[in-house]
Amino acid sequence: MVDYLIIGSGIAGLSLALKAAGRGSVLIVTKDRLPESNSAYAQGGIASVWSAEDSFAAHMQDTLTAGLGSATPAWLRRWCGRGRTESSS
Ligand SMILES: Cc1cc2nc3c(=O)[nH]c(=O)nc-3n(C[C@H](O)[C@H](O)[C@H](O)COP(=O)(O)OP(=O)(O)OC[C@H]3O[C@@H](n4cnc5c(N)ncnc54)[C@H](O)[C@@H]3O)c2cc1C
Repeated sequence: MVDYLIIGSGIAGLSLALKAAGRGSVLIVTKDRLPESNSAYAQGGIASVWSAEDSFAAHMQDTLTAGLGSATPAWLRRWCGRGRTESSS
């Protein structure tokens, strides 16, 4: 018996596991080996609009499409809009 069951060993699951570990026992279940996740392949970059042929609107649309509609447009506008600034600093 465990206090917290976490499905998935990507950054979301592992972040939650770290928080939950301070409150009780944790079991992480994943469909593959523990290190196998998108998080393990991520390169630590920030996607943003740099090319003259690209646009903020296209970036927004690509992100909405990739997220299958799960993204919140207000947050998306905020983060897509800050990408270039954040990458430069
Ligand atoms: C090649 C690559 C490069 C990337 N580069 C960047 C980047 O530069 N910058 C950036 O911000 N983002 C990047 N990303 C995206 C980023 O990796 C993901 O948005 C982020 O890691 C998602 O984290 P997560 O914990 O939500 O999901 P994931 O890391 O995908 O973890 C999901 C976990 O759930 C498990 N799981 C899934 N389905 C089931 C199931 N049915 N039963 C049990 N377990 C299941 C998986 O095995 C995995 O452990 C990149 C992704 C890839 C693949």
